[in-house]
Amino acid sequence: MRDQTGVGGAGAAGDASGLQDKLVVRARAAVGDYSVARVCPSCGLADAKRVRPERFLALGSDRVCRGCGTRYIPPTRAWGAVVFILIGFLLAGACGLSIVLRLRSGNPLGIPAMAVEGFLGVVGLLAVRHGTRALLRPGTV
Ligand SMILES: [Zn+2]
Repeated sequence: MRDQTGVGGAGAAGDASGLQDKLVVRARAAVGDYSVARVCPSCGLADAKRVRPERFLALGSDRVCRGCGTRYIPPTRAWGAVVFILIGFLLAGACGLSIVLRLRSGNPLGIPAMAVEGFLGVVGLLAVRHGTRALLRPGTV
């Protein structure tokens, strides 16, 4: 009787910590907090499966190591960095221009559209920043 209670208690504690681990993994996945590496950062194996990226700004797929299951992100290549910068400039420029034109027209109905354009403009600037970092420090982002 006493033993059963003890085992039950240990089992429950094990489940709780397992759940916590899952929550931690999920939270890390939500922010895209994976290592950037050319090969598995955990065991060094180059053999990996391609998986759909969870990040918002991503050109290629993420990798899952076939040896140990560690998920990581291959670094952005030079051509990818150039694509990020070009698209980012186009997006930020177009949105910025549109906001300026709307401000000059003085129509209050344009405010919701300006909010959307402001958001897209920030996304464009983030893309430029990512591309610039990938060019300046290859292999790290
Ligand atoms: Zn591995």
